[in-house]
Amino acid sequence: MQYQSTRDNGCSVSAAQAIKQGLSAEGGLFVPESFPKVSLEEIGALASKNYHERAYFVLSRFLTDFTEDELKHCINSAYTKEKFETDSIAPVYKLNDSTYVLELWHGPTCAFKDMALQILPHLLTTSMKKTNETDEVVILVATSGDTGKAALEGFKDVNGTRIIVFYPDNGVSEIQKLQMVTQEGNNVSVAAVEGNFDDAQNGVKKIFTDESYKNLLARNHFKLSSANSINWGRLVPQIVYYFSAYADLIANGEISAGDKINVVVPTGNFGNILASYYAMKMGLPVAKFICASNENNVLTDFIRTGVYNKNREFHTTISPSMDILISSNLERFLYDLTGGNDGQIAEWMKKLNTEGVYEVGEDVKAKLSELFWAGCADDGETKATIKKCAEDFDYVIDTHTGVAKAVYDKYVSETGDTTKTVIASTASPFKFNQSVLIALEDYSFVAGKDEFTLLEELHEKSGMQIPKSLAELKNKQVIFDLVCGKEQMQQIVSDFLMLE
Ligand SMILES: *Cc1c(COP(=O)(O)O)cnc(C)c1O
Repeated sequence: MQYQSTRDNGCSVSAAQAIKQGLSAEGGLFVPESFPKVSLEEIGALASKNYHERAYFVLSRFLTDFTEDELKHCINSAYTKEKFETDSIAPVYKLNDSTYVLELWHGPTCAFKDMALQILPHLLTTSMKKTNETDEVVILVATSGDTGKAALEGFKDVNGTRIIVFYPDNGVSEIQKLQMVTQEGNNVSVAAVEGNFDDAQNGVKKIFTDESYKNLLARNHFKLSSANSINWGRLVPQIVYYFSAYADLIANGEISAGDKINVVVPTGNFGNILASYYAMKMGLPVAKFICASNENNVLTDFIRTGVYNKNREFHTTISPSMDILISSNLERFLYDLTGGNDGQIAEWMKKLNTEGVYEVGEDVKAKLSELFWAGCADDGETKATIKKCAEDFDYVIDTHTGVAKAVYDKYVSETGDTTKTVIASTASPFKFNQSVLIALEDYSFVAGKDEFTLLEELHEKSGMQIPKSLAELKNKQVIFDLVCGKEQMQQIVSDFLMLE
């Protein structure tokens, strides 16, 4: 299987090269040249397999240049019971006879980014070896919270890699900060940057584009790389869990192989929902994809009208991982819907960059409305949904999953569609404990309580176990107390790598 770029389908690279490179030379994203097809018999057979076997089933069809041993090593290193606290890795919880929740947050950082970032470091180091790279990879991350911690956990102690995460001094939650500054591992570093997320991100971008600095790194046998969600190595592992959820529904007698299901995904960068669409392209029986947004509803408007317009107010919400106005993985989806029209994609992305808006043609609009349904929920609706879900089903969901459930409820009441539906649950409620408790109780309930008290309170209310990784934070040593100005970021990198 070779990979093309969304902005140049004349290019053709191996999976290992695509993963190593991250982004194509002209700025496009790597996509498979075709989609491997699987049969209903093969999907049915997944019902009796474990997550590792299901992962091999999907990944081996895309990463055809990896040997069986290489792939199995990556899969076994990533999805361990120790890290995920459950054998099933991504269990499905039944709410009622037509609604199922796919829990993607059992990993070490309690959010779904672990599903990809636990395996990406292994895919990346294997890709380096396969393409005869001997330099050490240095991962630079600017984070607004979730991604930085998930990347640290994924890359920690992975041979041949180092990772440095920069977070905005006053831009992450208390628990997110604690998660990062207590990070263990012999190849990790964390620094706070004076300023906001944009300052941290611009600082990282500056390091990435400084040619003379890159040459200095190269002379010292280091190669910069990023762990962001446009890398094919982050997207492809996400296809697995849609097959896994479907296989679980068969195994539990909820559906028969071939029955179509709906999928609901709380969406930001469009990576997670795109993975479900790719699963369908491979043969997974899906009827509708329901795209859920918070108040930053640029995708809702796009799917409904065909106009993508990022020129709008940015809202800070209780589902911060979906506070996004440019959904970078949408580019891959459009490439598919236009039948691989690279020139068209390049033109739209240029318009997005210069004018902040583009409109797709009637053919694409028709495909969009046939397969997708989009809706949005504001913070009030999300909180009401969390409370109602707890009352009706005795099941507590986080704020991102709350957006998904709220939008799904709107979908059902608008369409009357009762097709069995899988809702992707992207974070543990414990990770966003304060907002969840406000939803279940009120503001005064959380006032003056620290993070660890809130974890206990949520444990009481939900009957759910506090995730080990969050409970342990209380007794962890602070390892990184570095705060730097945004001009000092390059020096921090040099110090960490002990450059002259
Ligand atoms: C990243 C994230 C999302 C959005 O996922 P995309 O793949 O960017 O659409 C949703 N929920 C949580 C908790 C996340 O961390």
